[in-house]
Amino acid sequence: MSSYPMSPLMGQMMSKPMLISSLIEHADRYFGKNEIVSRRVEGDIHRYNYTECHKRAKKLANAFAGMGVKMGDRIATLAWNGYRHLEAYYAVSGSGAVLHTINPRLHPEQIAYIANHAEDQYLLFDITFLPIVEAIASHCPLIKGYIMMCDRDRLPADSKIPNLMAYEDVIDANSEDFVWPIFDENSASSLCYTSGTTGNPKGALYSHRSTILHSYASSLPDGLNVSARDSVLPVVPMFHVNAWGLPYSAPLNGSKLVFPGPNLDGKSLYELFEQEKVTFSAGVPTVWLGLLTYVAQNNLKFSSFKRTVIGGSACPPAMMKTLRNTYGVEVVHAWGMTEMSPLGTAGTLMAKHTDLDEDEKQSILQKQGHVLYGVDMKIVDDAGKELPWDGKTYGNLLVKGQWIIDHYYKNEGGDVLEDGWFPTGDVATIDGDGYMQITDRSKDVIKSGGEWIGTIDLENVAVSHPAILQAACIGVFHPKWDERPLLLAVKKPGAEVSKEELLQYFDGKVAKWWLPDDVVFIDSLPLGATGKILKNKLREQFKEHKLPTA
Ligand code: ADP
Repeated sequence: MSSYPMSPLMGQMMSKPMLISSLIEHADRYFGKNEIVSRRVEGDIHRYNYTECHKRAKKLANAFAGMGVKMGDRIATLAWNGYRHLEAYYAVSGSGAVLHTINPRLHPEQIAYIANHAEDQYLLFDITFLPIVEAIASHCPLIKGYIMMCDRDRLPADSKIPNLMAYEDVIDANSEDFVWPIFDENSASSLCYTSGTTGNPKGALYSHRSTILHSYASSLPDGLNVSARDSVLPVVPMFHVNAWGLPYSAPLNGSKLVFPGPNLDGKSLYELFEQEKVTFSAGVPTVWLGLLTYVAQNNLKFSSFKRTVIGGSACPPAMMKTLRNTYGVEVVHAWGMTEMSPLGTAGTLMAKHTDLDEDEKQSILQKQGHVLYGVDMKIVDDAGKELPWDGKTYGNLLVKGQWIIDHYYKNEGGDVLEDGWFPTGDVATIDGDGYMQITDRSKDVIKSGGEWIGTIDLENVAVSHPAILQAACIGVFHPKWDERPLLLAVKKPGAEVSKEELLQYFDGKVAKWWLPDDVVFIDSLPLGATGKILKNKLREQFKEHKLPTA
């Protein structure tokens, strides 16, 4: 931590460290009866409240103390969104240990790599992930014990997993008498690895301070706008950037929490939304695709759902319009990344926009939005020179702030900052009002004759065609222009459109020289562990593709 000069006259306010345990203490004391509802891996619905959650978190904290877990030790989880996972969030970080949430969608080899790299001491996991644990246990010599998040009768009879315990036994064996320790707020609280689309995954190590500040800021009205009036269903997983901080910001605000467990299909989500009167949700665009298809096919409406945050990849304007115009759900388009805890920007309007017409409002809202206080951003050219905020000039997006990494865990990759700024790897424009729009990830940009073509714009046009469900645009080799865009598109079930018709649809919607040179229809797009389209896989698959213009 850097040290700053001290004034001869320091402020005289209480210096209470910002600790994660204070969130669950607060929720217990002031919102104790507010509900936490979970669809369990076992299939049924579990309900309890913040007071009961706090009690069980303290029992688990006692259990860790008994196992010899010390401050700074890493405890891993491989789990869905659910109440036991929430208890682990508080028991681990609240004790001063570090919660390492692992993405179970990664390859087992990568999971073992991450667990060893983090030097995890215990691993908590949902029943679903027993096969993964069986595959990695012998490759993770540092893990002293495994806690399966279930009752004893669910434990496998003949498992070779060393020191395997049932979560409910661990809870039952411990007292709820536990006083959360007070320590420096800059202590590490949780660890998330990036999904490693390039090279090995790298760890972002959050602190108590950064987590609390992120929880405050992300709750603001122009952020996620989380309140005690909300019933919050995080679709975004707790194993991916802490479900965008909702397991912290919901208790901070006393919101009802609804966890979907493993059932993320449209039907299960819809039922939970309706049963639990969900008002607010958050997830990546691919999840909404499933939910919206189910709702449309069955001619349904939402009765309580008012607002959703969509991020992780660009939210197509067509999806935003459908949610708003057909279902009355307001969409907040947000941007961030693992290295940013994750929230950087969110798209909401200003007072001066009130009288704009719907299309003008929509064109502002489809940008990735404004920074939250606490984050600063700029765009620069390749030489590091700052570029103008005119909404047109695009450049490399750099950020800094209290919940943005200073360096990766174990200093992997060395000094990653550029003059104190973190390079996001995204290419963006910023307009005169400070609204940022992502054009592309720098590694996905198509470089045609020395100029850049942003793929997000092209994909947004493609998915606004009534016959197209999903689309991805990649650059493929062209002898004259180096690279030209190839559009890979998935048709909606039963819908028809020809290559020529689809290309014609782009006319007037993008600059002529941006038009894709070719279209290939495919059955599905490869998705990574966090629900994003794997463009590197597509580039590999289509690297020999011969463009008709070549
Ligand atoms: P990874 O581990 O793949 O980096 P993250 O979830 O941290 O996973 O991904 C962050 C990246 O996701 C950002 O740098 C950006 O490229 C992309 N991203 C996130 N939100 C948006 C958005 N709203 N629009 C476009 N891209 C986004």
